[in-house]
Amino acid sequence: MLPLCGETWGEAAQWAAAQLQNTDCPRLEAELLLSTLLGVPRTTVLAHPETVLSEAVAAAYVEYVRRRCSGEPLPYIRGHAEFFGLNFFITPDVLIPRPETELLVEESLAWMRERLEVSRRGTSSSVLGAGLRAADVGTGSGCIAVALATSAPGLHLYAIDLSSPALWVSQVNAERHGVADRITFLNGDLLTPLPASVDLIVSNPPYVAENEWSLLPSSVKREPTLALLGGPDGLNPLRDLLLQSGAHLRAGGLLLAEIGERQGAASLELARAAFPGAHCSVLPDLSGKDRVLKVRLE
Ligand code: GLN
Repeated sequence: MLPLCGETWGEAAQWAAAQLQNTDCPRLEAELLLSTLLGVPRTTVLAHPETVLSEAVAAAYVEYVRRRCSGEPLPYIRGHAEFFGLNFFITPDVLIPRPETELLVEESLAWMRERLEVSRRGTSSSVLGAGLRAADVGTGSGCIAVALATSAPGLHLYAIDLSSPALWVSQVNAERHGVADRITFLNGDLLTPLPASVDLIVSNPPYVAENEWSLLPSSVKREPTLALLGGPDGLNPLRDLLLQSGAHLRAGGLLLAEIGERQGAASLELARAAFPGAHCSVLPDLSGKDRVLKVRLE
C-alpha cells in the first residue's frame, strides 16, 4: 500500500506543505517536522528528496502533520526551541521561549559587565558574574537561567517554579548545556523558597489579563495557563514579586521583569511604590513595545 503522503521525502514534504497552508511557513514547517521525525538536520532532508519513506515513518509523519494542523505549536511537536542561540528541550508543561524575552538576558549581562568594570578597579576577577547570585522566578523551561549561566561563568543561580514538571524540564536543559552545577532548582511560589539574598532577580511572570485571554491566538492557549494568566489586570504576580523582592534583593541589586505591552505605566507605578529610592524604568522590545520593567537599587 502506498503511504498517504507520497513515496519519497520530497513528495512527503510537498504533501505536508499543502496541508499546512494555514501556518506562516508551510514548506519550512513541513521540512522541520520531517527532519525531527527522521532525526536528521533539515539540510539532509533538502539534499536527498529522492529517499524512499518507510511506511512506519510515513504514518508517523501524517500524525505529526495532523497535530500541527489541529493547532498544536511546532515546538511542542518537535520537542525543542531556540532561545538566545541555544537549543532548549520543550514540553507542553512550559511556555515556549519568545525572542522578546532575550531582552531580560541581555540587560542582565550588560549589568554584570558594568559590575565587573567597577570591581576590576578594586579586585582582579575577570569572570563575568563572579561572586554574584541571581534568582530566575518562574523559570519554566529554564531558558533565562541557562542562557545567563552559559554567558556568565561566575554566576550562581536559583531557578524557581511552582510547577514541578516545568522544573524537571529546566533541569534537563541545565544538564544539556553543562551548567547544572551552578543552578539550584527550587519548587515554590515566587521568591518564597529562596534561601539567600540575591544581587539579581529576573522573571518572566504570567502577565496576561483575564479579559485578554479570549483575544490570544489559539496556539498560545495550548501553553500552560499557569505561565500566562496574571489575574484581573495581569499584574498580580508582578505585584507580589515586587513586594517580596525588598527582603531578598541586595543593595546595588537589579530586578528585571517582563511585562505586557500595555502594562508599562502601571508596572512603573508598582515598582516606585515598592522601591521608593530605586531607579525604575521600562524598556521597549525590538518592535518598540513596552516589555521589561527595570528596577535598580542604590
Ligand atoms: N508574551 C506572552 C504572550 O505571548 C505572555 C507571556 C507571559 O505571560 N509571561 O502572550
